[in-house]
This record gives sequence, structure tokens and C-alpha cells, in this order.
Amino acid sequence: MGRVWNFSAGPSVLPESVLHRAAEEMTDYRGSGQSVMEMSHRSAVFKGIAERTEASLRQLLALPDNYRVLFLQGGAFTQFAMVPMNLMRRSRQADYVNTGSWSKKAIAEARKFGEVRVVADSSDRNFTYIPDLSAVSWNSDADYVHITSNNTIYGTRIAYPPDVGEVPLVVDMSSNILSEPIDVSRYGMIYAGAQKNAGMAGVTHVIIRDDLIGHAPENTPTMMNYRTHAKAGSMHNTPPCYAIYISGLVFDWLLENGGLEAMGRRNREKADLLYNFLDQSSLFKATVDAPHRSLMNVTFLLEDDKRTERFLSSAEEAGLVNLKGHRSVGGCRASIYNGMPAEGVQALVRFMSDFEARGG
Ligand SMILES: *Cc1c(COP(=O)(O)O)cnc(C)c1O
Repeated sequence: MGRVWNFSAGPSVLPESVLHRAAEEMTDYRGSGQSVMEMSHRSAVFKGIAERTEASLRQLLALPDNYRVLFLQGGAFTQFAMVPMNLMRRSRQADYVNTGSWSKKAIAEARKFGEVRVVADSSDRNFTYIPDLSAVSWNSDADYVHITSNNTIYGTRIAYPPDVGEVPLVVDMSSNILSEPIDVSRYGMIYAGAQKNAGMAGVTHVIIRDDLIGHAPENTPTMMNYRTHAKAGSMHNTPPCYAIYISGLVFDWLLENGGLEAMGRRNREKADLLYNFLDQSSLFKATVDAPHRSLMNVTFLLEDDKRTERFLSSAEEAGLVNLKGHRSVGGCRASIYNGMPAEGVQALVRFMSDFEARGG
């Protein structure tokens, strides 16, 4: 069987050239006579991989010098706890925006460490929109503000980061990091599990401004303290070596393909193709209003569960897989991350159009 069009929300499709590169280098990484999986993380060759991976990420995001890059483990879930443990340093208050399941989990975790105020919330319409963040009166005493830039499950995104004044803005960017250019200086910290848009499961990318490091209480577990990882260049203990290497290949692929400007254009075109189809269809219906739509996770419904089941199973037979919506919302979801070529989205639209023409 050839490769399918994989619309999984995460772990998710990688650029095919990255997979081929990894395969070629599997048993002998560039003349080292070892797989990246086998080499010491203290070796010069692995240090080279880690340094180049960081350098590529810095180049892609045009990272200012006062931001550190950390390669951590534990996924975005661990960041839900590390953020309050490290950043609640003065008032122990934080403002959170609740735009879905991931925000809710981040909020619940932060409440274990301090006072959390939910300043905006879209749960009243099952998270199908982004609340008006320009209308929020932010707590100027807060130690930080937390947002989720792209809501993987509900298919919404915060298109522009809110202006929160001097308070550091922390963002869970797990499902749209590197999908388009961003102004990093708007954020105090960015974190993302790699397995959506930046590599494979196992490494979590943390980009954090210098001045936010080093304020955790003394009894903070060593591995939960950003200072530990910043001091050790993410090598306090064995890092997720292979996952870091794969991220490096993804970053190189992004750089070779025009960087984030080009990626943003491509992603916009892919998303437009799918949303335009949904908006004119009488069978399929997008679940999110146009201004709040995610470029990465396109959520849609058919009129009933039976039709949805039929659509999903015939799509799978046609090699279009993982289109089922998250178990908490149902319906369908096409995740069209960087690694999904335009041809995959075209194939999906063609299939949906034929399915509709056949009478569903
Ligand atoms: C997938 C996802 C998470 C959870 O990430 P893990 O790496 O599994 O911990 C958190 N936030 C967002 C926005 C996600 O898409």
C-alpha cells in the first residue's frame, strides 16, 4: 500500500522528504557510523545536531537574542504545570483565556499554584468562536496571561495575539507553531508539543524570554525548573535525542521551502480551498464562523451520525484517513498541518464533492 492522505490531529503527517532523509540516515548518520538513536547525547556529533536544530528554529522565527530555546519532555501537558510553577513569581495571579479543552486543562493545572482569573470564555457556544479579547480588562498585577493560539479540537484560532501591556503573554502554540510568521517579541513564552506541526512526539519546544527564567521557588523539582534546562542547554539529563533530530529535519525543510512566509501562504491557500468548498456545500457544514477559523484544523459536520459514519468509512477506503472529529465534539476534522501538501487537500475536496454528488 502507498501512503495515505493522513488528516490526523496529532501525531500527524510529516513532510515525506523528512521521512526519506531520516530513513537514509537511520543506520549511519552522515558518516558517523551510528544511528542518532544510538549516539551519546554528550558526543560532538549529537551536540552538532542539537545546536543546528536550535539555530534553524531561531532563524525561522527570527528569534531575538533575549529568548532561550529549550527542548523538553512531557508534552504541552507538562507545560500546563511548569508555567505556573515558574512564572507565578510575584502576585501569584494569572489571567487565562478559555477557548477549549486545552485551555481548560491549563487553567485547572494553574489553579494548583495560584489565583487564576478566567478573563474570557467561549464555552457558552461549545467553543465554536474566539471571545473578543480587545474587550478584556487585563489584570495589570498578573504574573502572566495565558492563551491557546489554535484550538485543535474545535478548529478555532486567535488570529492576532491580544495586547496585554507589560504582563508577559504565554501561549500554547502546540497546533500552529511555525504555520505562519509571528512576532515573537509579543510573547513572554511560547510552548508546543512537536508532534502536531514541528516534528514527532517526545520533544516539547519552549521559547522563553530570559527575564522569566530563574524565579521558581527553591523547592521546585529540578526537572520542572526552566533554569535547570536553560543552564544545561537542555542537556541536564538525556534529552529526547531522536525527536530533536527529527524537528531539525523539519526546520531545515521549512527553511528550504521559503520559511514561514511561504508556509503561511501555502497554509492559507489550503485552508481557503477547504472552507470555500464547505461554505457552498449543502451536505457539509463548517462549524466555526469565518473570522475565527483555524488554518490547521478544519472542523465540519454532516446532518446526522449515519451520514457522518458513511462519509468517514468511504473516505478511509479511498485513502483519506483520520477525519473523525475529536471524541468530545464528534463530526469531522481535517488537520492540514505544514506537512500536508496542497494535493492532499485537493484530493479531500474532490472526494467530498463526489460524495455529495452521489447523494451522500
Ligand atoms: C495536542 C495539544 C496539547 C497536548 O499536547 P501533549 O503534547 O499531548 O501534552 C495541548 N495543547 C494543544 C493546543 C494541543 O493541540
